[in-house]
Amino acid sequence: MSETRHMKVLIIGSGPAGYTAAVYASRAMLNPVLVQGIEPGGQLTTTTEVENWPGDTEVQGPDLMIRMQEHAKAMGTEIIGDIITDLDLGQRPFTAKGDGGTTYMADAVILATGARAKWLGLPSEEKFKGFGVSACATCDGFFYRGQEIVVVGGGNTAVEEALFLTNFASKVTLVHRRDELRAEKILIDRLMKNPKIEPLWFHELEEVTGTENPLGVEGVKLRHTQTGEITEIAAKGVFIAIGHAPSNELVKDVLETHMGGYVVTKPDSTETSIPGVFAAGDLTDHKYRQAVTSAGMGCMAALEAERFLAETAGEETSLPLGYGAEIGSSAAE
Ligand code: FAD
Ligand code: NAP
Repeated sequence: MSETRHMKVLIIGSGPAGYTAAVYASRAMLNPVLVQGIEPGGQLTTTTEVENWPGDTEVQGPDLMIRMQEHAKAMGTEIIGDIITDLDLGQRPFTAKGDGGTTYMADAVILATGARAKWLGLPSEEKFKGFGVSACATCDGFFYRGQEIVVVGGGNTAVEEALFLTNFASKVTLVHRRDELRAEKILIDRLMKNPKIEPLWFHELEEVTGTENPLGVEGVKLRHTQTGEITEIAAKGVFIAIGHAPSNELVKDVLETHMGGYVVTKPDSTETSIPGVFAAGDLTDHKYRQAVTSAGMGCMAALEAERFLAETAGEETSLPLGYGAEIGSSAAE
């Protein structure tokens, strides 16, 4: 149904940044509306144990995100299952179009659209996506009981995925392009002690191989990064875990970005180059990319939105599309 609604604060995204902004904006009596997007709860819904969320020695990612949603709701946030497909930041109130037909008019916008998995861009990766190639072990690991699996990457995600997949797989080969992992020490320690995991250093994925009918993965061709030698190993599943890129599609043409698409904010602030538009979490953070830092930025965004709305009460401004305010150069490393 198409309808037009007006609100003081629109929060786009339902990860730790969005829900924390929602809690603070609700407590500031701003009656925020939060649009959840295609992945309600964000990236933590694609993992299992989270061990670094303060207050919980161990919590399941999806459970934590349900608790955050309930917290935001209890404080008074209206949570909507919709996807923003278009965002006009050229004038205030800002206009967001929802996939469900709703038009959201907002005096301030908090962008918390986070990040999503990167892919290698190989034709064979694309061909077998959903047929043996995946970027989410918690979603797809169950299909590989008793099978051999390859995980590509060397960060926290790759190591956690490899560890998780040992619950199902007979063997997990962790393919990394260097001989040093960038994952946390505690995770590396667990990886090295796991008898089902074999790290394969200095290798990159060259091609995923498999059958045509039915479409399915049978193995991978790997290239040695130093000698160029090609090795083939058998695998029924290939998990790509090579990092995440910011989900900036709504704003990449109007807001300043850097470091591969992360939205630039003023130093020590979530203010973007357009007054009244705030960015928090993995969308803007190329450095820490943690749940707790995203939540912290969500808090900052709500407090800054509250101050902005108090200072501009009653104003409706036409802004030139693009750069309403100058961004400090120290924000860009
Ligand atoms: P995200 O969690 O990325 O959420 C983005 C939200 O934006 C989603 O709800 C999405 O639906 C929404 N969205 C996107 N586009 C639109 C749109 N057009 N319209 C409406 N909504 C939209 N961090 C830790 O601290 N500890 C961990 O143990 C940990 N484990 C992880 C395990 C995995 C497998 C992964 C992938 C990440 C992990 N992280 C962990 C990192 C952590 O998940 C992120 O730092 C955090 O989720 C970022 O929060 P966010 O709110 O910025 O965005
Ligand atoms: P990441 O830290 O950026 O690591 C990406 C890994 O993939 C790196 O090892 C990188 O290799 C490799 N890689 C990148 N491009 C590649 C390519 N084209 N070919 C082959 N390998 C490639 O990403 P992440 O592991 O997804 O983590 C993202 C963020 O989420 C991080 O901040 C992380 O701390 C956080 N996170 C936290 C937890 C936790 O706290 N437990 C869990 C998961 C994620 P190089 O090392 O050679 O660059």
